Amino acid sequence: MNNPEDLVFLPLGGCGEIGMNLSLYGHDGAWLMVDCGVTFGDDLTPGIVVMVPDPAFLVEIADKLVGVIVTHAHEDHIGGIPYLWRQMNCPVFATPFAAGLLRRKLSETGLENAVPINEVKPGGEISLGPFDVSFVNLAHSVPETQALTIKTRLGNILHASDWKIDPEPLVGPCTDESVLRAVGGEGVLALMCDSTNVFVEGRSGSEGPLRDTLKKIVGDCAGKVAVACFASNVARMESCIRVAEDTGRRVALIGRSLWRIAEISKECGYLSDCPEFVDARDIGYLPREEVLMLVTGSQGESRAALSRIAADDHPDVTMSEGDTVIFSSREIPGNERAIGRVKNQLARLNVNVITEHEEFVHVSGHPARAELQDMYSWIEPPLLVPLHGESRHLIEHCKFARENGIEKTALAENGEMLRLAPGEPEVIAQVQSGRYAVDGRRLVPVDGDVVRARRRMTFSGVAVVTIVLDEDGVLLKNPILSAPGIVDGVGEDVDLHQEAILAITDTVEEMSERQRFDDDKLERAVVRAARQVFHAETGRRPNVDVHVVRI
Ligand SMILES: [Zn+2]
Ligand SMILES: [Zn+2]
Repeated sequence: MNNPEDLVFLPLGGCGEIGMNLSLYGHDGAWLMVDCGVTFGDDLTPGIVVMVPDPAFLVEIADKLVGVIVTHAHEDHIGGIPYLWRQMNCPVFATPFAAGLLRRKLSETGLENAVPINEVKPGGEISLGPFDVSFVNLAHSVPETQALTIKTRLGNILHASDWKIDPEPLVGPCTDESVLRAVGGEGVLALMCDSTNVFVEGRSGSEGPLRDTLKKIVGDCAGKVAVACFASNVARMESCIRVAEDTGRRVALIGRSLWRIAEISKECGYLSDCPEFVDARDIGYLPREEVLMLVTGSQGESRAALSRIAADDHPDVTMSEGDTVIFSSREIPGNERAIGRVKNQLARLNVNVITEHEEFVHVSGHPARAELQDMYSWIEPPLLVPLHGESRHLIEHCKFARENGIEKTALAENGEMLRLAPGEPEVIAQVQSGRYAVDGRRLVPVDGDVVRARRRMTFSGVAVVTIVLDEDGVLLKNPILSAPGIVDGVGEDVDLHQEAILAITDTVEEMSERQRFDDDKLERAVVRAARQVFHAETGRRPNVDVHVVRI
């Protein structure tokens, strides 16, 4: 497939989509994995919450995998490790914060003692087979985000997945311009770079001024205030804590993931001089104007704290007229409907809602165009390879890089193996890629029979028909039909149910004896008959399963 000496890049996730990042670098017969993330299910994957990259290629290279390095603690970079662990089976390297989160995730899946996690300090170094890797501090929306300088015999790569430039990130250091300039000065073969906000002009904005605005907004609020943000955004959490101090409020954390992140943050030396958080159960004892709640559920997740508060269904927290909810987060595409539902419920409770559309209450963690230009000027790469984007982001990023003086760009979408050296960059192979759904305790392909059948069942219902035939192939009794999701067995449905059974009976009886002894033919005829009746009466063509029992 590839000359083992070559230096190749192979994304199995995150290139052609936003989420589920998994990049591989191959060289000298070894493979290094960078990140192993998840993405989330939607209407097309009923019952599926989490998806991971197709592990087929990982199984192929498992004995050559020298390790996986996690660039930061976001789900789309770290969340896949518990699910793909059996296929990877290699040491994990992460900064203390990401390692702390990963340990907790692994303990939920009973893998805490199985996975060897090695902590690397931010800015640290490790050698893994033919790869000498240096970590470089980046600002992002979670602490300890790292770029990786991957040094090989054939040249150096700078892998800068998620990052931004923020002069005042407030928690953790700024993106390390001097180290990045030095990396550029030494010369790189390629810059592998975040494409999420390539369509956004200007800069992503800074946490420092955001904190001041939040303080002003909260200062003007009369009742309880709830701030919805991603739990992992520790800088935002700290901003809320400082805002609360300055406006005479106490901070309560509502949602398990916020408590978990607060605990890991303290272990890693963040949020160290913050007052104790108030427990949800004690909020009722405080005057309303002294409450600032941090809540999970900024994306409208139905089981998260904010949805439950909005539905007036939270065991400890209520909100009412005069209270305010601030969405200090971005609306992730695909979540608009769920977020809209929460906003409508809050409106019915007469709760004020403030989002980034009305006020400056959120800054992105990804680089806008001016920040990309800064990175290009520090690194001066001869080649840019876009990461972290849908096709349109990746293609636009290539165009933008060339307009800004980068000589070459190369694009590899999930499953495409890009040779970076020697010679001109070129896609040289295609490997199996795609998504696997975490379905309970197992992994199933998202485009496979199980998920496809599940999708059809939710859209069109399912009918199961049992046919009992004697030794002459004659119906021994009426076919048995159950059709959950199509007929509920009351009212007009009783007639539909009967009609379907009659149609199936007629179909079987009209078949020749020879046909009745052929299970395949019999099943096909019964499926056709049942679907015809259902379609004529309901406009739906359900999944029909037939069981033929011969006595
Ligand atoms: Zn990401
Ligand atoms: Zn991220």
